[in-house]
Amino acid sequence: MSGPILGIETTCDETSAAVLDEHGTILGMVIHSQDVHRVYGGVVPELAARDHLKRIEPVVTAALRDAGTRRRDLGAIAVAAGPGLIGALLVGVTWSRAAAFALGIPMIPVHHMEGHLFGPVLDDPGAVPPFVALLVSGGHTLLLWVPEWGRYFLMGETRDDAAGEAFDKVAKLLGLPYPGGPAIERAAAAGDPERYSFPRPMLQGGGWRRGGATPAATAQGSLDFSFSGLKTAVARTVERLAEADALDAERPHLAASFQEAVIDVLAARARAAMDIVGCDRLVLGGGVAANRALRSRLREDIGPGRLFAGSVRLSMDNGAMIARAGLFRLAAGSYGGLTDAIASVPIPGARPWEPAARLASSRPPPPSPPKGAGPSGPQISSRARTSH
Ligand code: ADP
Ligand code: MG
Repeated sequence: MSGPILGIETTCDETSAAVLDEHGTILGMVIHSQDVHRVYGGVVPELAARDHLKRIEPVVTAALRDAGTRRRDLGAIAVAAGPGLIGALLVGVTWSRAAAFALGIPMIPVHHMEGHLFGPVLDDPGAVPPFVALLVSGGHTLLLWVPEWGRYFLMGETRDDAAGEAFDKVAKLLGLPYPGGPAIERAAAAGDPERYSFPRPMLQGGGWRRGGATPAATAQGSLDFSFSGLKTAVARTVERLAEADALDAERPHLAASFQEAVIDVLAARARAAMDIVGCDRLVLGGGVAANRALRSRLREDIGPGRLFAGSVRLSMDNGAMIARAGLFRLAAGSYGGLTDAIASVPIPGARPWEPAARLASSRPPPPSPPKGAGPSGPQISSRARTSH
């Protein structure tokens, strides 16, 4: 490739474009967050697709202008091809395919979650494997062991709601605006996190102790997440308080206690994964990574280890992480089987975690997964968020 790379992101409710040079330095980036969804309290897929269609051209033009790059000087276009909302994805992929064809340059389809793994390295060149990654957004909650770029071991994922989805749904219960994460964080600042003892789903019973962690030491022998029970517990408490006309006064405490429960679960899972693979480096990505209480708890827990959290701009959905992952895929010579917009697709090179994956980075790697880890790879699904 000769010339800068353009990255396009339209998987959900951000239209973003970024221009990176061949070394991965950001030359220009624009993120347009759709706010039409506030009216409905959740992302409406059809409205998301229509808004991407309206914004993609001006967003790309502005990113190129910031970068001082002309279209004809681009060397490649990377686009988030999945997972995501199919109508939204189609806008980015169709636009990118047409532009790449017209310019005679390659179009590189990128997995959205692989993009999130590359977010922090845009801020900090030290954010490279080996690391454990905790990716928490409105559509995903993933715990991955990343011994090297392109080899991903799935250690845990959500069994129901994603972490950001739980923030959004609980915010709605509390009468707070969408998106719920920032609203809950603001309300929680004035609340007592110990006032309500909400469940820590899938941590109860087993618990996790530093130094003694094995998968069996966690409840039900799993590093998976579950947030729907927590949401229900908040809903029951809200009903009770509303009947007693006490909801307004208790809102900050409910927000703080809920946030504390989510953070306890995320931090315990991340620490357990790090102990299991023997790695003290953690990458935090996805929109929920913006939460300051989560960041400071992880920083505290990791102690002398390293937390790579990146800036808020690069944790949320953005075109720069897609372009950066595209540079990796282009150099690797494999797009991991991604060719077109696809709503649900495994991360290229991902497989379920098993103890054999606990490889020191100095040891020779085991045989590579088949290119594009086919249908046998873990299914990283994407769900349109529901608004209840
Ligand atoms: P998606 O790909 O699902 O759109 P994003 O990476 O754009 O995900 O993140 C959006 C999610 O992040 C929303 O669910 C939102 O509530 C959550 N979020 C944003 N800021 C915060 C915060 N400060 N605390 C907790 N959650 C947050
Ligand atoms: Mg988003």
